[in-house]
Amino acid sequence: MSHCASLGKQSPPGGHGLPEAALVDLHVHSTASDGTDAPEVLGGLAAAQGIAALALCDHDTVDGLERFEAGCRDAGVIAIPSVELSTSLGGHQLHVLAMGLTGEGRGHVREFLEGMRRRRHERNVEMVERFRQQGMNVDLEAVSRLAGGQVIARPHFARLLLERGYVKDLQEAFARWLTPGCPTYVPKRKATPEEVVTAIHEAGALAIAAHPNSLTGEGHDILHGLEELGKLPFDGVEAFHPNMKPEWTRVALGFARRRNLLVSGGSDYHGTFKEGIRLGCAAGGKGIVAREVAELLGRLGHPVAGYPSPDHAGGAPRICRG
Ligand SMILES: [Zn+2]
Ligand SMILES: [Zn+2]
Repeated sequence: MSHCASLGKQSPPGGHGLPEAALVDLHVHSTASDGTDAPEVLGGLAAAQGIAALALCDHDTVDGLERFEAGCRDAGVIAIPSVELSTSLGGHQLHVLAMGLTGEGRGHVREFLEGMRRRRHERNVEMVERFRQQGMNVDLEAVSRLAGGQVIARPHFARLLLERGYVKDLQEAFARWLTPGCPTYVPKRKATPEEVVTAIHEAGALAIAAHPNSLTGEGHDILHGLEELGKLPFDGVEAFHPNMKPEWTRVALGFARRRNLLVSGGSDYHGTFKEGIRLGCAAGGKGIVAREVAELLGRLGHPVAGYPSPDHAGGAPRICRG
């Protein structure tokens, strides 16, 4: 008995592909990023919920993938090794899932993440240099102490300015020194969506835009966000997710159909870190089933019974552009 409303009964993957009504969850996190379950236990947790396929998508790390795969193997669950990368689009945060990372692909992702770390470090060094040019005593050691092992960001600079008496509060620190237009402000060197998608393709993985509801707001509806995404060479879009309201899911499904994009779905499970999110469930506790993401599973090498596998569906791997 499943814990969320599945549309049918599940059975273990057989020789004819995954049953179309099998529960799947193509977006979960572990302790390798900000989840509370170790990567190796996720397969067992999924199996206990009748989930047949699971994708680990930790933020900006591939470190949990081997343990995740071992746990899934023991539990008889299909493991889809993945990673969730951050970028932004039109002023909105955008997360991108790289799905289906082989050993070599993981190496590519590691290199990409290392490059991003270098860019962040260079930005911090440049900001420190600019404070020095203003005759202010700001050093990287003190800023990193305030960051306490976290990624260094402007609030840590703000706290140092306060600590050293350059400002009377944090607001003043931001207003005078840390916003665009200030002499000591250096823009963030985040990866662009193009860079992220290119890195994913170089890693031989599929680039799926995660929870595209993050692109809504400020007068922009979900379709506007999807159309912005559609200008980039994404392979697919995560239509099923707890943050995707049913009407947004419908819009995303229609968009994917028109643009010939793959459809994905996942719970974004983080263990107890995000209460109320359950493995295998999208918005409203709706179970995500294999047929809803059949084409994607087929592309990842896990065909769903009754759905053509990519080999039979007309040859060349399909990367959609615009
Ligand atoms: Zn995300
Ligand atoms: Zn996530």
